[in-house]
Amino acid sequence: MPARYIIRFDDASEYMNYRKWDPFFELIEQYGVKPIVAVIPFNNDPIFLKRSRDDKFWDTVRMWQVKGYHIGIHGFEHLYRNHNRGILGINKYSEFAGVPLERQKEMISKAYTKFKDEGIHAEIFVAPAHSFDKNTLRAIREVPGIKYISDGYFINPIIRNGLYWIPQQLWSPVEKRKGVWTICYHPETSNDSSLKILKEFLESNRSSIADPLSLEFRSMGIADYVFSVLMKIYYKFRSGNYLKKYLKLLNETFDFKSIIILSLLSLQSL
Ligand SMILES: [Zn+2]
Repeated sequence: MPARYIIRFDDASEYMNYRKWDPFFELIEQYGVKPIVAVIPFNNDPIFLKRSRDDKFWDTVRMWQVKGYHIGIHGFEHLYRNHNRGILGINKYSEFAGVPLERQKEMISKAYTKFKDEGIHAEIFVAPAHSFDKNTLRAIREVPGIKYISDGYFINPIIRNGLYWIPQQLWSPVEKRKGVWTICYHPETSNDSSLKILKEFLESNRSSIADPLSLEFRSMGIADYVFSVLMKIYYKFRSGNYLKKYLKLLNETFDFKSIIILSLLSLQSL
């Protein structure tokens, strides 16, 4: 099957800047896209609190739901508590990774209840800064109703740790041959050129945009595994000249010949 794409928008909240968001919504309406909109349940992030609060925000979220958008639970307060990179290792700060299990359970349960009380059916968890740990996955599993996680460097949607993973690997459009690719946008900080690029991409890939909840999920394949390992290594060593460390780590962790063959197979399948 040829590549399919999912569009995700992060950081919707009572403090969102509609002037920045509306052009994205107009665009996806034009192309009939049903995105994941990651909504912060109790936004307490000082970056966003500078704006005035929109009292009608949850009406807007209900309207998105009626339109068929998928509402993601974007953490709890969007407050980074530590410098833990979590499982994926993308960012060096986290609201969840490294936080005790009981506290994580409490945060996720309160977040889910907030959406439920607002009449929002939210079943996708979207960790702020892509940072979460095994305890986050345990905590999510214990909240009945949350089934999906939008994250992970896999090539295909997979079932792992008792959850359905909708992989998220891109922050701007890239045409691929195979797999399912979520392109994540932050409309609050996006510029006109990213909007223009998205429009061109939707125009030429209109039939390849997927609905995230109608995907087929399977157990993790070898290409998914290798891709996730390589990306994790890339994020660990992306700053500075770490090639030697990278090769040393590969050599220590895996049989070197195997990893090269697996890498080539993995890249060929993209
Ligand atoms: Zn965020």
